[in-house]
Amino acid sequence: MNAPTPLVELPCPVCGGTAYTTVLRGARDWIWRKPGRFQLQRCDGCALVATRPRPADDALGFYYDDTYSGEAEEGMRRFQTESSMGRRLNRYRLGILRKVRALTGSDRLLDVGCSYGGFLREARRQSGCQTSGLDLDAGSIARAVDTDQTDYRVGLLTEAGYAPEAFTVITFLESLEHHTDPVAALRAAHAALAPGGLCLVEVPNFAGFWRKVFRTAWLPLLIPQHLFHFTPATLEAAFRAAGFSAVVHRQTLFAPLEGVASLGLWLGRILRSPPMGAKPSWRTPLDLTVFLALLVLYVVLEIPSQAVLRLFNRSGHQIAIARRD
Ligand SMILES: [Zn+2]
Repeated sequence: MNAPTPLVELPCPVCGGTAYTTVLRGARDWIWRKPGRFQLQRCDGCALVATRPRPADDALGFYYDDTYSGEAEEGMRRFQTESSMGRRLNRYRLGILRKVRALTGSDRLLDVGCSYGGFLREARRQSGCQTSGLDLDAGSIARAVDTDQTDYRVGLLTEAGYAPEAFTVITFLESLEHHTDPVAALRAAHAALAPGGLCLVEVPNFAGFWRKVFRTAWLPLLIPQHLFHFTPATLEAAFRAAGFSAVVHRQTLFAPLEGVASLGLWLGRILRSPPMGAKPSWRTPLDLTVFLALLVLYVVLEIPSQAVLRLFNRSGHQIAIARRD
């Protein structure tokens, strides 16, 4: 299985800069174990970190095959739309939005990168708001939930054809970092929001504590699907470049999987188990021992450490909410 080419090096979407400093080398797809070696570079102008060079637009699809759709699809769909863990995660997100304002029945909500629509379902159950979902993956939209109550579309926000000021709230949940031009996406969100409307973005936190410890094995790095790697400061800069005047709320998330799963990726890399190109089985004695050790660590280390990191805003995922003037 060879990595597709070509790679491209584009100017920074926030400031237009072309001068970069390499901050991390040797990053690989340790989760799906697809071939290719990548590096991260920080823009000298605005400090936004990018996967650079990155696969060209028509080569990116290779890194999504059998991940969000295909054979892994059913497990992902069940987690997002049916599992109690998935529902709890969506309620947690809605609780953070409520810190700025609660959704009501008169809200018009668009979720960009909505996948199977699990978040939209939870939002509608809580508030009775109108829901719209957009995703680049036609396979996810074809299997999305509640199609009689939600307007689903396939594509990019910049090309989706929504009317100006069509929405009161737009969310990007773990999707902005996948966009080839995140500022263009936020600018399109700004145009599609009514005045006073809110844009909520959830992305990994490149300034997080475990990121600095695990480096290329950090779980939320997700190379090369993640094209941009935001700190709270560079996420705010992206909002401003897109026309939003201010971020009105920001915080990191209590997401207890980051440390132990990153340790698992790091061990898998050291032990070369499984080899690149093969899928993890968790059936060999070595895999099972590692799994049990991680389970113990999860209880005694992961949950307390996430609580502390969340307290100091250094956990591995962040949410920022900006308001359109
Ligand atoms: Zn820049």
